[in-house]
Amino acid sequence: MQKKFLIVGGGVAGVCLAHQLIKQNQQLTLVDDGNNVSSVVAAGIVHPMSFRRTLLSWSADPFYFESKAFYMEMESVLNAHFFHPIMVRRLFATQEEAACWNQRLEQPEFRSFMHQITPEDLEFAPHGSGRVDGFWIDAEVFITESHHYVAARQQLVYDTISTDNFNPETLEFNGVKYDAVVFAVGYKNNQVPWFTEVPVNPTKGQLLTVKWDNPLQNTSLHRKAFALPIGEKKFRVGSTYEWHANTPEPTPEGRALILANTRSITIDPLEVIAHQAGIRPTSPDRRPMVGKHSVHDQVFIFNGLGAKGYMLAPPLAKMLSACIVEGADLLADLHPYRFNTK
Ligand SMILES: Cc1cc2nc3c(=O)[nH]c(=O)nc-3n(C[C@H](O)[C@H](O)[C@H](O)COP(=O)(O)OP(=O)(O)OC[C@H]3O[C@@H](n4cnc5c(N)ncnc54)[C@H](O)[C@@H]3O)c2cc1C
Repeated sequence: MQKKFLIVGGGVAGVCLAHQLIKQNQQLTLVDDGNNVSSVVAAGIVHPMSFRRTLLSWSADPFYFESKAFYMEMESVLNAHFFHPIMVRRLFATQEEAACWNQRLEQPEFRSFMHQITPEDLEFAPHGSGRVDGFWIDAEVFITESHHYVAARQQLVYDTISTDNFNPETLEFNGVKYDAVVFAVGYKNNQVPWFTEVPVNPTKGQLLTVKWDNPLQNTSLHRKAFALPIGEKKFRVGSTYEWHANTPEPTPEGRALILANTRSITIDPLEVIAHQAGIRPTSPDRRPMVGKHSVHDQVFIFNGLGAKGYMLAPPLAKMLSACIVEGADLLADLHPYRFNTK
C-alpha cells in the first residue's frame, strides 16, 4: 500500500531514507533547511575497522558490504560519479599494534576484511602497516545529486520545520497530512522540540585539503590523522574531534592540530588549499539512535550516525523504511531512549 511520508533533514540519513522509499514506490516529501554542515563536509571514507583498538566497527559485517552495494547502485540511478574504491592502510604506531593486527589476522571474522601482510606492508616505518579494502564517497556530489533527483520528482522542499508549521498530533506540515514523519536532523536535534530526551551530542570536525606530491594515489593512509587522495595530487587530511562544540567555523587551532597530526604520516611539505569544518551527530555509546517517539506513534528519529554516517546510513535507512512502510521491528540496540534512566 502506498503511504505518504515526511522526512525532515536532507543529510546522508534523510537522503538514504528517501532513496529507499522511492525504490518502494512510496510518496514522500524531503524537507531540508538548506544549511548542511555535516554530510556535505565529510571525507566520506568507508572502511570496516575501528583502528584505535584494532576491532571491526559495530555491524561492519554486513553494513560495509550493504553500503558499498547501495552506493554502486546509486551511481546508475543518479547518473553521477561519487563512488571511489580505495586501499586503506593503517600505519602501526607501536610494535604492540603490529602484533595485535597479526593476531586479528588469525581470527575468522577479520579474515574477510584484512589483507595478509606482505613485505611491502612492512616497509612503512617505524613498525610496518596493515591493509583493508575501503571506498570513499564524494559527499558533496552524492548529496547534491540526490537533492536534484528528489527535487525533479517534486518531492524536495527547502524549509525549516518548527512548531509553527508542524503538528505532531495530526502529522501535518504546512497544512498537508502525512502517515509518518522521520526526523533526521543531525546535530540540530537539540534545536527542535520533539526529541529533546534523545542525547545527540555535537562533535565538531575540521578537515584540510592539501597538495602533496605523493605517488600513493589509490591508498588512504591512517595513523594519528588520515590522508585521503582525491585526485590531481590533492589529499583531504584530518580530522579533529571537538566534543560539544556546535559552531561550524574552521579555526587556526584546528588547522594547526591537523597539520601536527599529519606529521605521523609524512614530513613532506603540504600546501593547504582549503579548510572546512562540520558537526557530527554523536551518541553517548557511539551507536546510532533509530526509533519511535515516546508519545507520537508515527513520529520517528534517525540520528547519532557519529563519524561513520556513510557506512551506517544506507543499511539503517533500509531497516527504517521496512519499519515505517510494513511495520517491521527495528534493532532494540538502537532504541533512541536507551540512555534514559528514569
Ligand atoms: C569533518 C568531518 C569528517 C567526516 N568524515 C567522515 C567520513 O570520512 N566517513 C563517514 O562515514 N562519516 C564522516 N563524517 C560523519 C558524517 O558526516 C555524519 O555521520 C553524517 O553527516 C551525519 O548525517 P545526518 O544526515 O545524520 O546529519 P546532517 O548531515 O547534519 O543532516 C541533517 C540535515 O537536516 C537539516 N535540518 C536540521 N534541522 C532542520 C529543521 N528543523 N528543518 C529542516 N531541516 C533541518 C540540516 O541542515 C541538515 O541538512 C564526518 C564528519 C565531519 C564533520
